Formats: sequence, C-alpha cells, structure tokens
Amino acid sequence: MSCDLLIIGGGINGCAIAREAALLGLKVVLVERDSLAAHTSSASSKLIHGGLRYLETYEFRLVREALVERERMLATAPQLIRPMAFVLPHAHAVRPRWMVRAGLYLYDLLGLGSSLPRSRGLRRDDPRLAPLTAGTSGFLYWDAQVDDAALVRANAQDAAANGAEIITGVAVTGAQRDAERWSVTLSDGRTIDARAIVNAAGPWVRDLLDTLGVATTSGLRLIKGSHITVPALWEGDHAYILQQPDRRVVFAAPWRGET
Ligand SMILES: Cc1cc2nc3c(=O)[nH]c(=O)nc-3n(C[C@H](O)[C@H](O)[C@H](O)COP(=O)(O)OP(=O)(O)OC[C@H]3O[C@@H](n4cnc5c(N)ncnc54)[C@H](O)[C@@H]3O)c2cc1C
Repeated sequence: MSCDLLIIGGGINGCAIAREAALLGLKVVLVERDSLAAHTSSASSKLIHGGLRYLETYEFRLVREALVERERMLATAPQLIRPMAFVLPHAHAVRPRWMVRAGLYLYDLLGLGSSLPRSRGLRRDDPRLAPLTAGTSGFLYWDAQVDDAALVRANAQDAAANGAEIITGVAVTGAQRDAERWSVTLSDGRTIDARAIVNAAGPWVRDLLDTLGVATTSGLRLIKGSHITVPALWEGDHAYILQQPDRRVVFAAPWRGET
C-alpha cells in the first residue's frame, strides 16, 4: 500500500488532520491500533472553548485562534456542538471583580465576529446563581459543548468520503526510511509506503518516535484530569465554572441529562 501521508493515531488530531489532508487532495492512510476515539479524545471535558483561563498566562494569540476555530466548528458541525452558557460566580478572595470583568471583556474582544452572545454581569437574585452559596453575584459568558467521540468519528467519515483510508484495530510496529520515503510495518503484517508521517499518537507520541526509530531530545510531560458524573444538580442547560482557592477552576456541566 502506498500513500502521500500516513497518519498514526485515530483521536481528534489524527482524524481532523486526515480530513484536512484528504480535502487538499492528498492520498491519506490513517492507522489506529484500537478504535477511533478510544482514548483521550473521548475522555475530554467536552468543551469547545477559547480557554478563558489562558488569558491569565497572556496566551492571547492561542485564545484568539481557539475562538476563531470555535466559530468555524459551530458552523460546520451544529449537530454535534451546542452553544453553552457558563455561570462564573464571583469569588473575591481568588480574583477581584475588576480582573474577572477585564478578562471577560478581553475574551469577547478576541472572539470578535462570534455568533455567541457577549459576557455580562449577573445580579445576586439571578436564578442561575440560586444553586450556589446564597448572596453570590457573578458573570455569564458563552462557549460550547461537544460530543467529543462523535466529532472524531465525523472527521474520520468525512476523511473517508474524500478518499482517505481509515484502518482500525491495527498498530504501527516499526518503520524504516530511505532518502525519499518511509516504509512502515503494521501489526497485521502489511507494509505501508508513505512520503510523510504524522505522529498523532497523543500520550504515546514519544513511544511512537521510538517505534519509528526517530531520535529526539524532547521530553513529554503528561497531565491528568478527573471527571465525575453525578445525577443532575440543577435545572437548565447552563454550566458553572468555579474558582478554587489555589486559582484552579472546576467546570460543572450538564451531560446527557446528568451533571
Ligand atoms: C482531563 C482532560 C480534559 C480535556 N478537556 C478538553 C476540552 O474540554 N476541550 C478540548 O478541546 N480539549 C480538551 N482536552 C484536550 C484533548 O482531549 C486532547 O488534546 C485530545 O483529545 C488529544 O487528541 P489526540 O488525537 O492527540 O490523542 P488521542 O485521542 O489519545 O489519540 C491518540 C491515538 O493514537 C493511538 N496510537 C498510539 N500509538 C499507536 C500506534 N503505535 N499505532 C496505531 N495507533 C496508535 C492510540 O490508540 C490513540 O487512539 C482535555 C484533556 C484532558 C486530559
């Protein structure tokens, strides 16, 4: 088998790259050792967001790019992505009101041209603040929620519809490279001849470099998050973003009728 681009990994990165490359007319093969979206890409917090909290670390360009993508995705896959209002209760001890207000103003500004409503303040008697500690004021801003695994599959389907070959249940086990091309071996005994490889192996990106025989001095630091699903705690389809004393944030969001 021969291709222009061999993509290794069937998470959101691999499948979205496969779709883009196939739309550009490249001959694409994607290989995933388990099933599509079997790992990180089905275990995310299911948010399509610009990353409000990255403003604190001055990553303005990242946030702008993510907000532009948010808008594109809302337009491209409205069946999988829905706008979601976030209630941000005020916690003066963690961040003063002016700072949160300024952050939300900047978030709106970086998202200029967005179809989502702008942020605003919430009065203490707003019913969306009622499930929280009595007497709290807060803010409301908008991002979006996605069925993450379905988004991966939709990208793969569109890639396949545009000529990409999607292989699942087969791992890449080794590779050799001559001056022009890669020769990649698969766990089912097949060999793929590719002009270029995309390493989209997510948390296994470093292991895959070893498998491919590519030397690197770069390291990889893995991070982990936790999600807890509980019966719905409030009515309505809005989410909460809760500031913690150590300045981290916790999201509480509805998911398939639960929270
Ligand atoms: C707790 C948490 C919450 C998150 N929340 C969000 C969020 O709300 N919104 C957001 O946008 N992002 C979020 N992210 C980030 C997002 O989930 C990841 O950036 C994304 O899923 C990574 O996708 P991926 O395709 O790179 O990796 P993965 O989905 O892990 O896919 C990599 C694939 O490579 C395959 N693979 C590995 N080695 C081989 C091999 N040798 N041969 C064949 N296949 C191989 C694996 O089987 C795997 O399926 C979150 C991340 C975490 C950890």
